[in-house]
Amino acid sequence: MTAEGVAYPIDLHTHSLRSDGAYAPGDLIRMAASRGVRVQALADHDTLAGVAEAVAVGEQLGVRVIPATELNTESDWGDVHVLGYFVDPADAGLEDRLRWLRENRGRRIELMVERLAALGHPVRLERVMEIAQGGALGRPHLAQALFEAGHVPSYDAAFDTLLSKDSPAYVARVGLTPLEAVRLIRAHRGVPSLAHPGTVAVELEVALPELVDAGLAGIECYYGSHSVDATVRYLSLAERYGLIPTGGSDFHGRGEHGAPLGGVRVPPASVAALDERRRSALAGAAYHVEPLGRAR
Ligand SMILES: [Zn+2]
Ligand SMILES: [Zn+2]
Repeated sequence: MTAEGVAYPIDLHTHSLRSDGAYAPGDLIRMAASRGVRVQALADHDTLAGVAEAVAVGEQLGVRVIPATELNTESDWGDVHVLGYFVDPADAGLEDRLRWLRENRGRRIELMVERLAALGHPVRLERVMEIAQGGALGRPHLAQALFEAGHVPSYDAAFDTLLSKDSPAYVARVGLTPLEAVRLIRAHRGVPSLAHPGTVAVELEVALPELVDAGLAGIECYYGSHSVDATVRYLSLAERYGLIPTGGSDFHGRGEHGAPLGGVRVPPASVAALDERRRSALAGAAYHVEPLGRAR
């Protein structure tokens, strides 16, 4: 291990069953601790409900838990997901907005259940809700219900044939645009980072300047399914636009996204940079500074 090498795993993107993950927040932190993880962000979709439990377990086991959420967005930019670090679970204004997003999420899943029935793949909404165990409803829960009911040969096949965008049972969500998601996180003194940029359907050179103007502070460069070339490209974009390179496993507990919990190398410097932005956000300063050499 070199002096600047990573001495311990850091995972800045994980999900618990408070949204669409498979494990309770505390169990997730216990698993992470057993793998040597010392810094972990819990980034459940549209909710901060798991943060208190995760933090409490983290304090016992020496894992620093960073509160976070991941916001999906609706636009013609494809799947733009925005991670918001250091948002406050006690922030009632933010919780109001997250509740609105969760309610839209639930209505959308109901509509998809209706479409699946019409397509000859009936699943019971009650079963989908049981699978979610009270978490924010999502397509992964539908996929599991379809698999259990024998409509598809595997969990992945449910997405491939029925649930992905342009598939017959897909229903778009009503929600935030990418710029609104970034502004929401900023307005609540969080630090926004663009998750898995490979799912953005437009050129990043088109999307990033607008996202940066809205207050984007990071980009998820380190990610299980990124090739080395992709990682290098995202790191160069981070430098060009003055963004913090973040990263994580996007662990849900079902083997997706190509990395085990704590299995993506994230440098401690990324955490230090997020902390620095956090301090600026709390101080109320406009912490976005115009990056050097930014192309317009
Ligand atoms: Zn995502
Ligand atoms: Zn995620």
